[in-house]
Amino acid sequence: MKASFFYGPQDIQVEEVDKPVINENELLIKVHIGSICGTDLRIFKFGHFKIDQKRVLGHELAGEVVEVGENINGFSLGDRISVAPNVGCGHCRMCQKGYNQLCSEYEAFGISYDGGFQEYMRIPQTAIERGNVFKVPANLSYVEAALVEPFSCTYNSYKALNTKPGDTVVIIGAGPIGACHVLINKLAGATKIIVADVAASRLTEMKKIGADVTVLSSEEDLNTRVLEETDGAGADVVITACSVPAVQQQALEIAAVHGRVNFFGGMPKGKEFVTLNTNLLHYKELIVLGTTGSSIENYRESLDIVASKKVDLLQLATHSFSLEQINDAFAFAQSGEGMKTYLNIAGE
Ligand SMILES: [Zn+2]
Ligand SMILES: [Zn+2]
Repeated sequence: MKASFFYGPQDIQVEEVDKPVINENELLIKVHIGSICGTDLRIFKFGHFKIDQKRVLGHELAGEVVEVGENINGFSLGDRISVAPNVGCGHCRMCQKGYNQLCSEYEAFGISYDGGFQEYMRIPQTAIERGNVFKVPANLSYVEAALVEPFSCTYNSYKALNTKPGDTVVIIGAGPIGACHVLINKLAGATKIIVADVAASRLTEMKKIGADVTVLSSEEDLNTRVLEETDGAGADVVITACSVPAVQQQALEIAAVHGRVNFFGGMPKGKEFVTLNTNLLHYKELIVLGTTGSSIENYRESLDIVASKKVDLLQLATHSFSLEQINDAFAFAQSGEGMKTYLNIAGE
């Protein structure tokens, strides 16, 4: 079979290797779709502290069960599955609270387990036992199933922010994650959704999927526009869906009194100390919160929402490449063109 291996920054190679061998407590899946996440791009650029050997990247994936370990109950040949990628240890304080994505001893597909950018993938016992493996409802395509993962991270943000009808929501960053924020906040009944980005190419897409207002913030002052759009009140909800320190500062400025702000995008190393005007926080009684990844519960609920067809993730999947073209796919995903770039690994 073919597998792509990450050897170190800027070095991914596609190789012919043996299929993974599973034991009696594991599953083997034929990967159909693996979509490229910002996390994959970051690992490709800078590496990852948990990756110290060659590794198959990819945690947004969907495929079909082709081998079932003899001790496995509940999964059969032909089952279509997707995974919640972060596998918690199962016994720490965070795991016991249901926050497996916050487990300090986590394992993850595409980081500590070989991920989806290969033709066949082994699913370890821990992932099966801890509930990370999901059967994909029949009405969902493999592409939609793979995109449930990024959507679930924005769903986690939405749960924390509790967007309600009447809220004006500002999303800064018009990438695939910004798009997922638009979809979930629209579904939550947000009255007005404003999306800002410094690049024009993706803002047109945002309009198509449901943004009410788009702001090209390299040319137009976002603060002024938000005040105009909200009769001077500011935004009830602000989400920073990018990794720019100045955007975190700006989020506090454009938030309304009693606004809720989610620092969704993490900062690159060396840029994580950001000077904030804490008086904005104080005098406006802002709620500023962080979210990262998603829990198994978030994933479960996201899968149900996507299967209900109340959100359409398919429209985000704009560009596909074969596994052999993985380096072109990464370059394309990095260019900021299109929306979600994915590998059509089974080639259908
Ligand atoms: Zn992801
Ligand atoms: Zn744990």
